[in-house]
Amino acid sequence: MKSLAVLKKSIYVTRPLFPEFNVYSRRLKTVWKSKWLTNNGSQHNELESELKKLLKVPNFLVFNNGTIALLVALRALKLVGEVITTPFTFPATTNVLLWNNLTPVFCDINYDSMNIDVNKIEKLITEKTSAILAVHVFGNPSNVVAIDRIANKYKLKVIYDAAHAFQTEINGIGIGNYGDATMYSFHATKLFNTAEGGGLATKNLEDYKTVKLLRNFGITGEEEVVEPGINGKLNEIQAAFGLSVIPKIKGEREKRKLIRDSYYSCLSKVRGLVLPQIRNDVTKDSYQYFAIKIDKKMFGRSRDEVYFELRKKNVFARKYFYPLVSNYPYFKDMPSASPSKLPVAKKVSEEVLCLPFYGGLCLKDSQRICQIIASLKC
Ligand SMILES: *Cc1c(COP(=O)(O)O)cnc(C)c1O
Repeated sequence: MKSLAVLKKSIYVTRPLFPEFNVYSRRLKTVWKSKWLTNNGSQHNELESELKKLLKVPNFLVFNNGTIALLVALRALKLVGEVITTPFTFPATTNVLLWNNLTPVFCDINYDSMNIDVNKIEKLITEKTSAILAVHVFGNPSNVVAIDRIANKYKLKVIYDAAHAFQTEINGIGIGNYGDATMYSFHATKLFNTAEGGGLATKNLEDYKTVKLLRNFGITGEEEVVEPGINGKLNEIQAAFGLSVIPKIKGEREKRKLIRDSYYSCLSKVRGLVLPQIRNDVTKDSYQYFAIKIDKKMFGRSRDEVYFELRKKNVFARKYFYPLVSNYPYFKDMPSASPSKLPVAKKVSEEVLCLPFYGGLCLKDSQRICQIIASLKC
């Protein structure tokens, strides 16, 4: 095996998208003059209406982070009992179920899409089930049509974690139009970011009103609080940052497309590597992650070996999502968390590897990463 040189500087899985400094500082001047820092300030309101347009959703609210947005959504929808969800996700998705006294019921995933397997949902439904909480993993939409059909049949609510799916569209329709509520994350590592931040789209105006109330402690007037709400507000400093990032999104997507194309052209020939699906009905891609799967039998080396070899060369790929949520100590003893019931999720969590993927990554480096991976095949 030919040995390749270590990359000079460390390369991480992603790098935050920053605004132009002068664009942000101009907005900060406006904030300074206004003497207004939070609670429905002008930057906040402008960001909310801009994002609503960009995401093409009917009702939209910004939050201080995606986790709180999801926490509030579950409460606003008045869910009780059990919620069917995926074990292949970030802890936030399922932790908020516990914060709402809800019991997660883990459903296995589909190998290709890595999303919840819609053919395995129905047999997990009991009289206690109140909702399906699915994730558009790595920005690839869940099977929203099948999930809708099941939800209608059993009168269940549907919530999507679209933390990876900023501006994803199916046949021109914004991903946040599916289900009763859709959560977005604007964390620093997400394509669009406000350093920390999030958003929630709701199908109904009623749910929108409840969510808005819960976002601000449940306060309806100076002397009136009607719900046990929380503080989910985004401040002016971060809203101004977000507004200054918006003009950068298009260019970032274009750069990520070039990197994705370069990964495809050099890795698709390597036997034993499974590259992300590109679907015809997904008319706009989030370009959030580039997740490959490494089939140990065909590739000759495990995902972990590739992960460690890359690290030795200063390339810090990430094992999203390993371990599975269902293996966390506080979930693992639940009946639905048994690995024997989640064979595909287990397999995917042992094969998946997210490669460095951001606009600032130069093509030379993405090609070097490909060479390192290809050189490991045996
Ligand atoms: C980032 C992320 C979240 C959490 O979002 P925050 O804005 O960091 O709270 C939730 N779910 C998934 C799948 C994520 O990747």
